[in-house]
Amino acid sequence: MRKRDLAREENLDKFREECGLFGVASSKKDAPQLTFFGLHALQHRGQESAGIVVGNGQELEGKKGMGLVTRVFDQKDLEELDGRMGIGHVRYSTSGANLIANMQPLLIRSLKGSMALAHNGNLTNGHELREELENGGSIFHSTLDMEILAHLLARPGFSDFEKALQESLLRLEGAYALLILRGDTVYGARDPQGFRPLIIGQVDGDYMLASESCAFHTIGGRVVREVEPGEIVKLKSGKFESFRFADPGPEKFCVFEYIYFARPDSSFSLDNVHRVRQKMGKQLAAEYNPEGDLVIPVPDSGNSAAQGFARARNLPFELALIKNKYVGRSFIMPRQDMRETQVKLKLSPIRELIEGKRVILIDDSLVRGTTSRYIVKMVRDAGAREVHLGISSPPVSFSCYYGLDTTRRQELIAARKNTAEIGEHVGVDSLGYLSLEGLQEMFGKNMGYCDACFSGNYPLAGENGN
Ligand code: SF4
Repeated sequence: MRKRDLAREENLDKFREECGLFGVASSKKDAPQLTFFGLHALQHRGQESAGIVVGNGQELEGKKGMGLVTRVFDQKDLEELDGRMGIGHVRYSTSGANLIANMQPLLIRSLKGSMALAHNGNLTNGHELREELENGGSIFHSTLDMEILAHLLARPGFSDFEKALQESLLRLEGAYALLILRGDTVYGARDPQGFRPLIIGQVDGDYMLASESCAFHTIGGRVVREVEPGEIVKLKSGKFESFRFADPGPEKFCVFEYIYFARPDSSFSLDNVHRVRQKMGKQLAAEYNPEGDLVIPVPDSGNSAAQGFARARNLPFELALIKNKYVGRSFIMPRQDMRETQVKLKLSPIRELIEGKRVILIDDSLVRGTTSRYIVKMVRDAGAREVHLGISSPPVSFSCYYGLDTTRRQELIAARKNTAEIGEHVGVDSLGYLSLEGLQEMFGKNMGYCDACFSGNYPLAGENGN
């Protein structure tokens, strides 16, 4: 297997975060710094590239680069960028390869003026629209979905930008949250089903937009509300306005934001993410009841659910797998049989807590099972008498087409094996998932969530095999 493929394998062991967005319309010239800190808080949503575009009402300027936010920007960069308005983006490539041309924000200069666009999500009619526009003479420079929107906005006949934006968004189908910086205004919008998050915040009387509320906490801001599905919000220094481009709903917010993607200190409309994960652990404990001596989370993704599980079962909760915080990105191992070393670089067991115990490991999701297998072996090697594994979400049996890393369905272990076979594959004494019914009971069946990767009920037809 080629080195590149090994890296991909490693990446596919979890569904990957999509992208993170941050935008601000400030009354001071601090947009570059605020956007930098906002993106830094959203780093978990994408580590492949980062970019910031700022402006003062006319020309726009920016910087983009491959890697983490702190690697792309230093203090000098932020001092050189000059702007009251800014948008920023961290990316993990979903649609479009991980190419320099696909870094965001996308900066477009045309006779109608300059604008910058950034988005999170995936269009289900992207290919169709791209073909239509190319047939009409448009030339594309990237494979980004948002370049389609840029071309739609640039079509002749539109003199009013906001009308053009409303009409162009009506042509898009799929899951997206987006930011546009144009002139002295930052626009934000969410698709009519609201798959991907976008939240309005406020700091010192100025307004901001971000994928998650944790971005506001970092800079001393507060949450105002979520952008509604089908809504466009318009930020200018010291004020925000809102108008609709489509009727909302039925809402289909991505349930995986609660399960894995979002930071535990973020909140969406249902509740704080950490608390939701704790409740999922509690619900799992009601459905999966192996005999055990202690509960250990798979860090960090299983931490909150394991607390909820341990509390519900009245069992000791131990952080007995220690994460090496300084590993950073995955190393590409030269040989496939060195994958175990990869896991050992990241995690280390506390033998004194584990030896002779019946351990219940808790994780948030199981996509391929490769890493889980090494973790289970690590816990056994540390002397565990039994190892049980609880997953606080249902089996991931279907691919996501709405802006996540589109893992091929045959790569999902639950699409090929039943629970007993998966348990055997990862080497546990027992394996238990939260049931789909349990998940739907928690979130409310038909109450505004997408759970297609568990249920196969895709809310949108299109480029998803429906
Ligand atoms: S398919 Fe899964 S990951 Fe994708 S939007 Fe729906 S719930 Fe989220």
